[in-house]
Amino acid sequence: MANRRGKPLSQDGLQKPTPILPTPAIKMKKRNFNRRDFLNTSVSAGVAAGIAQGGFFSSPAHATETKKLGVALVGLGSLSTNQIAPAFQKSANCKLAAIVTGTPDKEKVWSDKYGISKDHIYNYNSFDKLASDDSVDIVYVVLPNSMHAEYTVRAAKAGKHVLCEKPMANSAADCRDMISACANANRKLAIGYRCQYEPHHLKCIDMARSKELGAIKMIEAGFGFKIGDPKQWRLNKKLAGGGALMDVGVYALQACRYLTGEEPSMITAQETKTDATKFASVDESITWLMQFPSGILAYCSTSYNFNGLNRFNAFTENGFLRMDPAFSYAGNRMETSKGKVELDAPDQFATEMDAFAKCIMENKPSKVSGEEGLKDLLAVEAIYKSIESRTSVKVVA
Ligand code: NAD
Repeated sequence: MANRRGKPLSQDGLQKPTPILPTPAIKMKKRNFNRRDFLNTSVSAGVAAGIAQGGFFSSPAHATETKKLGVALVGLGSLSTNQIAPAFQKSANCKLAAIVTGTPDKEKVWSDKYGISKDHIYNYNSFDKLASDDSVDIVYVVLPNSMHAEYTVRAAKAGKHVLCEKPMANSAADCRDMISACANANRKLAIGYRCQYEPHHLKCIDMARSKELGAIKMIEAGFGFKIGDPKQWRLNKKLAGGGALMDVGVYALQACRYLTGEEPSMITAQETKTDATKFASVDESITWLMQFPSGILAYCSTSYNFNGLNRFNAFTENGFLRMDPAFSYAGNRMETSKGKVELDAPDQFATEMDAFAKCIMENKPSKVSGEEGLKDLLAVEAIYKSIESRTSVKVVA
């Protein structure tokens, strides 16, 4: 059995774990990376091994003492299988309470593996019955981008808080509908911006905002990877909303926003396509320039056509702040003009889910709110508009 990317699946239908490879350099030379390999940089192999052995981040005492909110996972694809489901084992405040899948085979596999009984298994038709499932507090939407809006709105109507994967939706208009639906139902909405919980990113934000190295003058940021299977939804505009920019370019875009603490006012973008068949409906490679109100300039890039782009570099009055890799699930590295900074980096998905659960329990707003997702989409739309019009475009809120 194989998945859509041609990767073998184990007999239980779940993707086989990526083997832990000896060193980053060897791994880079020996084989082509796919998207997941790229995010799971082998720099993190030791960390991953530690997690697998329950060593680094498990805190059973704390986990049992704290109330856990129930999460319904919607869409059991690669991210849910390989990152989110394992993250529940490290979560202090969340537990997997229900699943929503359109693939009957996955019901048994997930039920056996995670002990989910039949009354907590839904499909896309029975989804709205979640309203009467008291074991579920949060619906976590992990579907193709075009489906985020529909399932967020339906979850809110079912009375559930929503954690929705990035990019928030295919358009700013959809983002606004999602925000209204959650506000009307008095439910909280958060977007899966895991990097905003990653300690090195937080340290960079802190140093940038406190101007420890002087004010930021310019930023260079980029994220891309070489995409495989030409038939996947990521290459279908209807489902993905766009290409590399929507999928991974948003990480670079958002890093510029959270490092500066400002919203871009003007954007100039350019696109290139070297494979017009594969990238017939979505963007392949884009570079864009953002101007911020204080005068900071950011030049960014994204691509579905090569590996190795996964970084940001903020040039300040008296030095620099950089991360490379910056946006991986683990193994990210930070350096400033004062030297390297190494921090413990817990599982980003567990941290993100726990933070959302705390917002719900303490009735506080999430820092990765729907409004935050909307701001990214406003910039994304300005980027596409600039490409189409071949002019600089003002970002309008
Ligand atoms: P995937 O293709 O592996 O999984 C998608 C799931 O949606 C599958 O279970 C599939 O069966 C289901 N699905 C339902 N209707 C579908 C349809 N019409 N077409 C295709 N699939 C359909 O994708 P993924 O990598 O798990 O990504 C899911 C979401 O998570 C995306 O929005 C993506 O941007 C986001 N994501 C976020 C991160 C992160 O680091 N935060 C990483 C990867 C993906």
